[in-house]
Amino acid sequence: MQIHAVPVLNDNYVWLIEGEQGQCAVVDLGDATTVLAAIDSLKLTVQAILLTHHHTDHTQGIHAFRMRYPVPVFGPALEAQRFVTHPLADGDIAHLPSIGSFSAWLTSGHTLGHISYITEGAAFTGDTLFSAGCGRLFEGTAAMMLASLDRIATLPDATKIYCGHEYTADNLRFAQYAEPDNQAIAQRISAVAEAAASGLPSIPSRLLDERQTNPFLRIRTPSLRQAIEAFAGSQLNDVEAFAMLRRWKDEFDGLSPL
Ligand SMILES: [Zn+2]
Repeated sequence: MQIHAVPVLNDNYVWLIEGEQGQCAVVDLGDATTVLAAIDSLKLTVQAILLTHHHTDHTQGIHAFRMRYPVPVFGPALEAQRFVTHPLADGDIAHLPSIGSFSAWLTSGHTLGHISYITEGAAFTGDTLFSAGCGRLFEGTAAMMLASLDRIATLPDATKIYCGHEYTADNLRFAQYAEPDNQAIAQRISAVAEAAASGLPSIPSRLLDERQTNPFLRIRTPSLRQAIEAFAGSQLNDVEAFAMLRRWKDEFDGLSPL
């Protein structure tokens, strides 16, 4: 299995998962033209689309794309009914011959029905687990997102994380602000800046990198927990700490609360 990044729109990634004999699956489809050009230049044969959630920047290319490749669209059973031909509930598996099997995990929080696709050695986490961050809570609750991230964190350290946006550098700025003494974050900031200077994506990361640098996977780390509680001005349980960390980052990013 070989995975190609196709940058689309401002900072989205579409992922092309190439199996044997040039068969491929497309993860999310924010733009048809760019993805079709990439498929042509790689000489791939499209077998299916795997959709993580309903947001426009992940779906608006599907219609035009399917004019040329009328392939099945796997996606969340709980949302995106306009696009999805093969709805997947939590635990369902999309079997794609010559490419692989992809387990759908319901990873709600960013949206209510968001799913992540888990396969051997890789997880396509859409807007749930980002590199060094996590999606904003547009539809779900902090408890939902924390449960989703905790579940992804049960995968092996070497699992490669393919997420939906190139937000790593921005996310690491907040990570370092929240955990100034974390050397792994400092090292990753340098590595990501080097990759960017060469025009390379920062993604995929390994789950191990996320464990070491992603504050949203680290709310139980005592030093970070203390910093979150200092921001809140009170002691917090896990869900409260997660919600407060999300709020802290939104404020840091200058985003309005929901
Ligand atoms: Zn989204």
